[in-house]
Amino acid sequence: MNLPVKFIEKYQQLLGEEATAFLTSLQSGKVQKGFRLNPLKPNFKQVRTDLSRPLNYVATGYLGAITGRSLEHQTGYLYSQEPSAMYVAEAAAVQPGEYILDLCAAPGGKSTQLAGKLQGQGLLVANEIDAKRARVLAENLERTGATNVQILNEQPAKLIKKFKGFFDKVLVDAPCSGEGMFRKDPAAITYWSVDYPRECANRQREILKSAWQLLKPGGQLIYSTCTFAPEEDEQIAAWLLAEYPTLKLLPLKKYSGMDNGRPEFADGRAELTRAVRLFPHHFQGEGHFIAKFQDTQPQPGRRLKRAKKRSNQ
Ligand code: SAM
Repeated sequence: MNLPVKFIEKYQQLLGEEATAFLTSLQSGKVQKGFRLNPLKPNFKQVRTDLSRPLNYVATGYLGAITGRSLEHQTGYLYSQEPSAMYVAEAAAVQPGEYILDLCAAPGGKSTQLAGKLQGQGLLVANEIDAKRARVLAENLERTGATNVQILNEQPAKLIKKFKGFFDKVLVDAPCSGEGMFRKDPAAITYWSVDYPRECANRQREILKSAWQLLKPGGQLIYSTCTFAPEEDEQIAAWLLAEYPTLKLLPLKKYSGMDNGRPEFADGRAELTRAVRLFPHHFQGEGHFIAKFQDTQPQPGRRLKRAKKRSNQ
């Protein structure tokens, strides 16, 4: 794989001595494959696929390659997903009964996992802006057998009219510069330029402004990318903290091979270490960044809202 010279120079500057290991891992072309079981299916662990390499940070996650043509995939018992992507829905720590929005949801890796965590209780709204991708999202979610899922094909800002302040948790798995896709899909390299992370960051800020309005006071916002670029990752996390002072960054558990977010990649605020960086030279996965925010405004509470509505009638 030929990485762009400017990309190599950028990470040599950012990572110093560590850059060689990072760049070598990307250039190795060795893609880490994984899959998840679907807890919504009866006897979901009784599959023929090899379950000998479980992951310790995702109860339903395993290392290993599966094919989309297999019966177990077609019937929704398995979902192919690279291991670092699995930690996003895990970090969201969704509880049955919650109202969850997956704002950038296709093809559905995180949505299918979130649906499993809801256990049929509460609501998952899985939104995808691109109509063609939304159809793939629908197919993948349908296979899970989840019944408490609404699939939408909307621009994030258009959701505000119906869903302002509605969701307990909003996941923005943002469209990004995709540097963590380089090994899996070398075509992703052709989109990359020095300016691309900044362009992606601008788009992410717009999406996150909508996400903020869709989140209920006291809710949690999860921001993730599959890139290593500081202009997105830590700098977007720092921007969120500055823009929305009631947001606090929550510490995410770091399992073996997981790195802290790097304050020096943004404005130096120490709390950025609470985010997670998954680097392919430390972790068995393609690469991700995850930051989880808690809004500290008082929660209105659903019961209170209903009581208020009744008293207004
Ligand atoms: N969460 C997905 C999963 O785990 O399978 C992957 C999401 S992918 C990283 C980002 C998604 O954001 C893409 O499906 C893309 O179509 C969508 N997207 C692109 N531009 C967008 C925008 N302006 N607003 C919202 N979503 C956008």
